[in-house]
Amino acid sequence: MSKFPQFKIDLDNFISDLNSRLEENNKKVEELLKTPKKTYTNFVKPLLMMEEYLDQFFTPLSHINAVNNSEKTQEVYSASIPIITEYSTKLSQNLDIYNAYKEIYKNEKTSLNYEQNRVLELNIEHFELSGAHLDNKTKARLQEINIRTSELSNNFSQNLLDATNEYKYIIDDEKDVDGIPESDKENARSEEDGVAKYKFTLQLPSYISYMTYGKNAAIREELYRAYVTRSPQNAAIIDELLSLKNEMSKLLGFDNYAQYSIASKMAKNEKSVVDFLDKLAKNSKEQAQVELKELQSIAPDELKSFDTAYYSEILKKKSYDIDEEEYRPYFEQNSVIDGMFTFLNKLFGFKFKKVDEKLWNDKASSYDLYTNEKLTARLYFDLEARENKRGGAWMHNWQSHCKDEEGEEQLASAFIVCNFPPSSETTPSLLRHDDIVTLFHEMGHTIHHLLSSVDENDVSGVNGVEWDAVEFPSQFLENFAYEPKVLKLFATHYTTGEILPNEMIEKLVKSKNFQSAMGMLRQLEFSIFDFKLHSNIYKGDEVQALLNSIREDTSLIKAPEYNKFQNGFSHIFAGGYAAGYYSYKWAEVLSADAFYSVVDEGIFDSPTAKKYLDIVLKGGGSKSMEVLFHELMGRDPDTDKLLRLNGIK
Ligand SMILES: [Zn+2]
Repeated sequence: MSKFPQFKIDLDNFISDLNSRLEENNKKVEELLKTPKKTYTNFVKPLLMMEEYLDQFFTPLSHINAVNNSEKTQEVYSASIPIITEYSTKLSQNLDIYNAYKEIYKNEKTSLNYEQNRVLELNIEHFELSGAHLDNKTKARLQEINIRTSELSNNFSQNLLDATNEYKYIIDDEKDVDGIPESDKENARSEEDGVAKYKFTLQLPSYISYMTYGKNAAIREELYRAYVTRSPQNAAIIDELLSLKNEMSKLLGFDNYAQYSIASKMAKNEKSVVDFLDKLAKNSKEQAQVELKELQSIAPDELKSFDTAYYSEILKKKSYDIDEEEYRPYFEQNSVIDGMFTFLNKLFGFKFKKVDEKLWNDKASSYDLYTNEKLTARLYFDLEARENKRGGAWMHNWQSHCKDEEGEEQLASAFIVCNFPPSSETTPSLLRHDDIVTLFHEMGHTIHHLLSSVDENDVSGVNGVEWDAVEFPSQFLENFAYEPKVLKLFATHYTTGEILPNEMIEKLVKSKNFQSAMGMLRQLEFSIFDFKLHSNIYKGDEVQALLNSIREDTSLIKAPEYNKFQNGFSHIFAGGYAAGYYSYKWAEVLSADAFYSVVDEGIFDSPTAKKYLDIVLKGGGSKSMEVLFHELMGRDPDTDKLLRLNGIK
């Protein structure tokens, strides 16, 4: 019998199937709670497996809704969301489960293995970070705060969206749109009494287009001013959000929100985050100044904030521009995939074999992964763009490696979805280099999930991995897409068979690192501002004062007084990144560090790569990434490796 379920979904009966499953689950929870002497084996394991099977049942629906979207999938999907949300909320607030976990942890801590202890620790922590264990009055207040903060976040986004939509700038002088790419010009164009007019807005594609290509500095300034002064009413929302988040953290026993945020992350304490960001900023500054000088040298006047994108584009064209079309014939999709498999085989020793099965689309395919000839996992590809498929790229895990209640091994499976140029009978799918980076990135997530050797599904593969570490395996793998040794495994011209020349590879790397130090400083400015803002109490003008003081170090071009960037910083005020924006850089350091160890060992047959497989990939979420990283490298992460990756000396 196959170790993997066949991919199928019954949309007509999905909701009734879901309801009956949930009903059964609820009954099962009640029964489990009646168990007189609860243990990991008789209580935790059955609960975990119950959730695993529910995920396995539900995942095909969200997958099919994303890749074969139709009215029917939308209807079923949106009908299912409130049902599943209500079920999960009830479960996550069930104090009897929380108390049972605590009791089991107390009784069995010394006899359970580290995977089982980790499951209990994470679940208990999860309950406690939501305040489930506190007295009723505190819980009621926490609930109020939750409702109000989601309202405020929602208003924040809405204000920003309204401000973005309200604004337009009309250009009626043809010479002011000179240099704007034809397609952007076409989008902006309308005709009035036979005269062409061009409308630019604060919607990103339109805004970025003028800021990057628009020759008229006065118009650029006007657009810039409109952009950075959007939604001034968000300042009051920021004040209230900061105060509520602070209150919430204190009710949960933390000094401030930053402390609360990192409680469930890899970063140990606030100081380690601040020191980490400061160090990167300090080390990037000198090169950023050099980059700015180079940029300044091609501008007639002193560079202003609204000039950088425009002159950067000119400089990039002049020095580093690469013509994507020249590259694409070297990156035929099938040859890229075969090459990626060869690369993974040379690095880690595992193999992929194509599976012959019918899937949701003719272009989708599946592969079995074998380690030492042993069937280990299954991977599904849906790589080409088509109608009714959501844009972008992602990995979605389906089954997680574990042992079920009977001790039977369950293998892992996952989907990789991309939107590559479609192939046809007559034309192959030729990728851009960016597509390859994306494929490697998603493959990095995927093998993190598939190679797990953990027996507890809750901390197996990508499950239970800290938020600031989850991009480590994806970025690690993505870095190899720039390595000549790796590219040469598959980058052969699809008609001539010629291998991608070294000069073309060098150009790729150079253009990746164009103005990397300036870019780094900008990201650090956001990260430091976000983290410090949530480490203390700031209100009114103090918010701006904090931002200004950070900019002293990170902003080489002084932002104008009117710039109120914070009022549009929706990542942290409306997007769940509060005191967590640093995570981007945090994971990048882990990945750059491990990556260079492998590169410096010659890539193939690298002992560090083998260790990475055994420790990081097999370990999944069973230990903190802090611990796994130390087991891998024998030391703390080295920020210099990220600088090296960005070409910063
Ligand atoms: Zn990712």
